[in-house]
Amino acid sequence: MKVTLAQIYKSFGPVEVVKGLDLTIADGEFLVLLGPSGCGKTTALRMVAGLESVTSGRILIGERDVTQVLPKYRDVAMVFQSYALYPHMTVAENIGYPLKMRKVAPRARDAAITSAATKVHLEEFLGRYPRQLSGGQRQRVALARAMVRRPSVFLMDEPLSNLDAKLRGAMRSELKRLQAELGVTTIYVTHDQVEAMTLAHRVAIMNKGVVQQIAEPRRIYDDPANLFVAGFIGSPPMNFLEGELANGQFTWPEGRFATGIAQSQQKVTAGLRPEDCRVTAPDKGKIKARVYALELIGDHTLISAQIGERTITVKADKSAQYQMDEPIGIDFADPAVFLFETASGARIRGK
Ligand code: ATP
Repeated sequence: MKVTLAQIYKSFGPVEVVKGLDLTIADGEFLVLLGPSGCGKTTALRMVAGLESVTSGRILIGERDVTQVLPKYRDVAMVFQSYALYPHMTVAENIGYPLKMRKVAPRARDAAITSAATKVHLEEFLGRYPRQLSGGQRQRVALARAMVRRPSVFLMDEPLSNLDAKLRGAMRSELKRLQAELGVTTIYVTHDQVEAMTLAHRVAIMNKGVVQQIAEPRRIYDDPANLFVAGFIGSPPMNFLEGELANGQFTWPEGRFATGIAQSQQKVTAGLRPEDCRVTAPDKGKIKARVYALELIGDHTLISAQIGERTITVKADKSAQYQMDEPIGIDFADPAVFLFETASGARIRGK
């Protein structure tokens, strides 16, 4: 079902943590709320669940205004970071609990439990207790329990963050499949950009209680709305240089280069993604640098290049071989340069 958040504000005492959130999540969509710790994403999710009241604004699930509706009448299912399973109940009992509460007849309940357990590959574990399961299996029980009754909306708060890296990767693809198969509208909170990029149909990036950009993952990466989004998405992060723009030429203390954006403005920040930079001979390239450090990551090499007082990161081929302090040039195509107003962080785009 469609979910609408209209002008949601939330304050805890004098502190405003969500500031005018407007979001429309389409029926069946997987929307990820992404942002640094404390940006208000969990609070936003808890308001949709009804676990937290709104200070002002409206929340609709489908066409129904649920702003004042108790959590249990909102028809949402929530999955938390901690699995919150009942330790004295078996896997089957845990999964079936929401149905038992709703007085669903035992036979229908068993069928639903089996079907949900099959979806998360837990058929063989139905008789076990949570303590006899691994972390990943427990999280799958929590997921099965959330989907056993086909809610209108899934709300997930960092459900994978307690798992080790390998399991997290595996569960990520499971989740993506499950959500697509079930077609249940999902709002998913995380601070992990990889999770956001891989799971989401659309990502809403939040900072300090304000949505910075809402778009498909590819768009967020290729076309960031502002300095915050540009710096938050991408690993290693985008390099930022501060300088001035004059007729499309970016000038900074270490030189100048063309940007492809024929404008003039003081105090701009140029952004360069590490993978858009390449190492050249010292007298070629747009920036002169020295190799500060070299890190072989496996399928690529990260070069920290020193330019005056600062370093920028270049993502190079795995076969890249340079000596420490070796002079190099760094080159990039004009369109690879992102530009932002330094003070506001707003993106400067070509006309
Ligand atoms: P994290 O990823 O660390 O959970 P978050 O983006 O989910 O961060 P929230 O949990 O929504 O952030 O918290 C947003 C802000 O609101 C934080 O500064 C937090 O300290 C504050 N906050 C959250 N709950 C309460 C509360 N019950 N009372 C007072 N302040 C709160």
